[in-house]
Amino acid sequence: MIRVLEPATAQVMAELPQAGVEETDAAVARAREAYPAWRALDPDERANVLYGLADALRAKQEDLARLEARNAGKPISDARGEMGMVADTFRYYAGASEWLLGDTIPVAGGVDMTFREPLGVVGLITPWNFPLTIASWKVAPALAAGNTVVLKPAELTPLTAVELEKIALEAGLPEGVLNVVAGPGSVCGQRLVEHPDVAKIAFTGSTEVGRRIAAGAAETIKRVTLELGGKSANVIFADADLEAAAASAPIAVFGNAGQDCCARSRILVERSAMDRFLELLEPVVRDMRVGDPLDEGTVMGPLISEDQRETVSSYVDDDHVAIRGSAPEGEGFWFPPTVLAPVSNKDRAAAEEIFGPVACVIPFEGEAEAIEMANDTIYGLSGSVWTRDGAKALRAARAIETGVLSINSNTSVRVSTPFGGFKQSGVGRELGPHALDAYSEVKNVYYATGG
Ligand code: NDP
Repeated sequence: MIRVLEPATAQVMAELPQAGVEETDAAVARAREAYPAWRALDPDERANVLYGLADALRAKQEDLARLEARNAGKPISDARGEMGMVADTFRYYAGASEWLLGDTIPVAGGVDMTFREPLGVVGLITPWNFPLTIASWKVAPALAAGNTVVLKPAELTPLTAVELEKIALEAGLPEGVLNVVAGPGSVCGQRLVEHPDVAKIAFTGSTEVGRRIAAGAAETIKRVTLELGGKSANVIFADADLEAAAASAPIAVFGNAGQDCCARSRILVERSAMDRFLELLEPVVRDMRVGDPLDEGTVMGPLISEDQRETVSSYVDDDHVAIRGSAPEGEGFWFPPTVLAPVSNKDRAAAEEIFGPVACVIPFEGEAEAIEMANDTIYGLSGSVWTRDGAKALRAARAIETGVLSINSNTSVRVSTPFGGFKQSGVGRELGPHALDAYSEVKNVYYATGG
């Protein structure tokens, strides 16, 4: 039995049967059986089923948001936005069923054409920080491209994935096309990685588990997409709009209680602007409302678990705390938004992914040092550059080794644009048209026409 906790109260909010190897194998078998018919469905019919699912998800947005807010401990306003994105993601990829195009290539003696073929059964393994959102980034393009799916959500947050399976069936997705298996990663996840009938694994989670999955998938030459950790830099030059940068920097680290692979948790500030920046940052951090996820005014909830709170605490040395926000006392896995300053880029808190509401403010001198520091990490997922000098912004954006970068903004994710990491932040891209490459093979067909 899985006992699902509510992080704000540390109480059990649901219990559900725990899947193991047998249930995982059964789910793969169902997906395999459903594959030929799903793959053969006319593209417009497949699109219509997925449009129907997008509408059904939109209709359930509030219920799903409340469930996700309670189970993941995220503010209801954020959860509502995420569930809106889930519906939009299905709507976007529904259309892709009809525009997943091939090419014609000029060659001698005939016609050469390419087709985008589905892979078969794909295994999707997702984390607890954005449970249904990250699931939708994988499920929607996988189904649109004609694959069938086994989805393994994190055991800490399986509830919205279980709802997704039900909503999909009600919306007309044929039986067996989407199968959710709620069970431990080391059992169900690993079985998907090893299973000979699974053609691909798409995974979001820690770099450590990602490494294990890549090694396991090599046995059967499975395709692999990995979205892993991050330690992104928010580079603030002295000529930036410091008010705007300071207003935005806290939520770029403390959003989702810092449990965000895109968290811009290294705030690199040009030394001459350091004092002013910290002065502007302090009231924003202190005014952040940390509390009940279901309260409309809350901007930050609890951490996901006691384990996570212990890990995060291990990075905070009181001597380096420059700003500390507030957090409720008592039950629940609370941790206050915390700013460490000044910090060296080499310190443990600046080098390792904390996955909690802890920001490191790091001084730098000039453009070259900013870029060197931004790149001095094993990760490369997101990042930002703040300056009023457009040429400098573009030079820095090109030089920083990262998959997603924003100028004068701290946003990372849009349904229609690619998302993914450089270096040890991952392999492959999600969202946008690029995600479809991850769920299809290119087939090349040559037709000899005799001239
Ligand atoms: P984990 O890597 O522990 O878990 C992610 C998923 O993998 C869960 O469903 C988990 O199952 C499963 N899993 C665990 N072990 C195995 C295994 N041996 N084989 C197959 N699957 C397995 O990460 P967390 O969920 O704890 O998330 C925190 C980390 O993930 C952070 O480092 C963060 O940076 C990264 N992350 C990256 C994102 C990105 O987009 N790049 C997004 C979100 C998080 P279960 O938990 O049920 O046992």
